[in-house]
Amino acid sequence: MSKTRRAEIAGAGLAGLALATRLAHLGWHVSLHERSADLRMFGSGIWLWENGLKTLQLLGAYEAATARARHVKEWRIADGSGATLYSKSLEGRDRLLLPPRADLYQALIDRATAAGVHVSTSSVVASVRPEGVLVLEGGEQRPADLVVVADGAYSRLRENIMATAWSDMGTEGGFRLLVPAEPDDPTDIITEYWSGHWRVMFNPCTDGENYIYLGGPVNDARGRAVPIDPAFWRERFPGAGEMFSRVGQVSRWDRIVNMRTRLWADGHIAILGDAANAMPPNLGQSANMAFSNAMALAMAVTAGSDVPGSLRAWEARQRPLTDHVQHWSYVYGLILGRWPASIMPLRSDLMRMLGKMEWFDEGICRGARHVPEGSALF
Ligand SMILES: Cc1cc2nc3c(=O)[nH]c(=O)nc-3n(C[C@H](O)[C@H](O)[C@H](O)COP(=O)(O)OP(=O)(O)OC[C@H]3O[C@@H](n4cnc5c(N)ncnc54)[C@H](O)[C@@H]3O)c2cc1C
Repeated sequence: MSKTRRAEIAGAGLAGLALATRLAHLGWHVSLHERSADLRMFGSGIWLWENGLKTLQLLGAYEAATARARHVKEWRIADGSGATLYSKSLEGRDRLLLPPRADLYQALIDRATAAGVHVSTSSVVASVRPEGVLVLEGGEQRPADLVVVADGAYSRLRENIMATAWSDMGTEGGFRLLVPAEPDDPTDIITEYWSGHWRVMFNPCTDGENYIYLGGPVNDARGRAVPIDPAFWRERFPGAGEMFSRVGQVSRWDRIVNMRTRLWADGHIAILGDAANAMPPNLGQSANMAFSNAMALAMAVTAGSDVPGSLRAWEARQRPLTDHVQHWSYVYGLILGRWPASIMPLRSDLMRMLGKMEWFDEGICRGARHVPEGSALF
């Protein structure tokens, strides 16, 4: 009888949980280490595209994750006054659901637990070694066939294999929050308003709450001010209606970063999720890509007996699509955040033109249209 193979995973974020569950379903003994004392997810809503939704179906987490989610029909970019610059239909293969992040996270935790994943909180991973060892802060060494680094954008563990290639700390940061829904709120249209280098996004989320993002240049003190100054945002976005008066407490301002790695795999170590390819969330694809990369990783190491070889093949197969999505997300951020102020009207013209082009639509949606390995039936 073949022996059960062991996986040790650092980081119980969306990437770590999805991989852990799939590996457990495929017969692996999986330990998942989370440094925080409890499993909690910061964030408001999350865009789940078809590739992410197929992954959730494969994991058995779809129903619980999306039970309260809005089904969004259109993604619209408008200028500060509300005039449309770009509009994209979100039907069929470009389906997008928008649940609260907490629902998604809890659904994944429940599936991981049901699959028999051993989840340890307050378990800080100190280092990983390519021969297949994960070392905890207290010094405990845990040998495994597969060791996964899924410790997020600011990963320290990826430096154990000198993986970081390039990082851009970007020019944008922002607040995410859930606000009470009002009867006149759109229920199926995301509107992203652009005004200079600032943006606000209105995302329909559940019956009771909607998700708002307020973003702007990192060096803009008024845009970063807490509590949020509704007058400042109203002035910049007269077309965005009265949503700013609903903005209450904010707890966290996130910087939008882009990280690229030299490699995703070395020996028995794989790097996954934001640790491998944190990208600006402009296409709402970062977690969705982490999901499909996780599904392919689980399939690759299960099918082959040589884990290092399987990981190299996994990286070679998955990386081109992730690179594409990351590149498009990054360029989108450049257009929003670094466009010269002196030629701003040209940006509006550009966006109106791009919205009519098939290749642009294909470029934006290539990640969403990818079918994650193992999920062809859904
Ligand atoms: C404003 C914003 C909006 C976004 N919107 C979307 C969206 O709509 N759709 C989408 O697909 N993506 C979106 N994203 C991106 C998405 O949130 C991330 O890609 C995803 O959460 C990354 O998951 P992860 O598991 O790789 O990393 P993380 O969520 O960062 O998880 C890493 C985990 O590892 C733990 N950890 C760290 N170090 C250690 C250690 N040494 N030992 C043990 N545990 C450790 C951390 O505590 C954390 O729990 C958005 C991001 C931002 C900033």
